[in-house]
Amino acid sequence: MMDVYVDLSQLGKIFPTPKGPLCVVKDFNLKIREGQFVCLIGHSGCGKSTVLAMLAGLQDVSEGVLVLAGREVNDPGPDRGVVFQSPCLLPWFSVLKNVLLGVEQVCPDKTNAQREAIARHYLELVGLGDDLHKMPRELSQGMCQRVGIARAFALNPKMLLLDEPFGMLDSITRVQLQQELVQLWESDRKTVLMVTHDVDEAVFLADRVVMMTQGPASRVGRVLNIDLPRPRHREAVLDQPRFYELRGQLIEFLETQNCAPREEPPRQEPAAICALPQSARQI
Ligand code: ADP
Ligand code: MG
Repeated sequence: MMDVYVDLSQLGKIFPTPKGPLCVVKDFNLKIREGQFVCLIGHSGCGKSTVLAMLAGLQDVSEGVLVLAGREVNDPGPDRGVVFQSPCLLPWFSVLKNVLLGVEQVCPDKTNAQREAIARHYLELVGLGDDLHKMPRELSQGMCQRVGIARAFALNPKMLLLDEPFGMLDSITRVQLQQELVQLWESDRKTVLMVTHDVDEAVFLADRVVMMTQGPASRVGRVLNIDLPRPRHREAVLDQPRFYELRGQLIEFLETQNCAPREEPPRQEPAAICALPQSARQI
């Protein structure tokens, strides 16, 4: 298939636990096209962060293959930028310096002025143009998260991996940052995989929403194409009936997963397990 940037094939993760091996993710299949924004959604504990961490190279793959830009990956690399719930800022450096440090690492050939221009550009885009010289202790949670996002974009990775980046924020700040992220992405078109458990956030941001089944042995349950036009602005999107249809489909899926038994399926009936629809529509 053309332009496939990420190819996760029969991916699986097994954690050793005191009670024996725990199969968190199994037979997880997903392809992501270059420049696509994909949200990964599912109930808490189903294995979203585990999938993201494997893609980031921060967790080993137990089963299957993980291919990025045609190459199998097992380690972290500058081609992937990661943003977690609470970004780590170095407390003794200013906002600007926190972003600049990363830019210096990835752009050693540029001049100081060029590197600073890059850092300033992304900090301005996330609304921190007037806060460049503030120290991390002077920032609100929302501002810290903005620095984390600016830093991730400034490093110019091929792919961004975002793990519930707005999970800790109040709802007003979250909505603001969603709008900023969508604008940033629409101007930059990086390949993004973002974990969220917020249905509205997923529909607003994504080109495709990948729904994971309830764990253990979680896999892709359904993929929803989000055919809302871009550029997306919150008010306009909320005016579209299609937004509510898509949102409804997501909620419906998540509700069916909520009723699913948490324990392992009975061993005597492998046919019943195999009969679950592998219905993931990909790309
Ligand atoms: P999510 O991000 O969807 O909330 P996670 O990927 O964090 O879920 O976790 C999925 C499951 O894997 C959970 O049951 C969690 O307890 C388990 N898990 C995660 N990391 C480890 C680990 N290092 N060792 C053992 N179990 C783990
Ligand atoms: Mg998680």
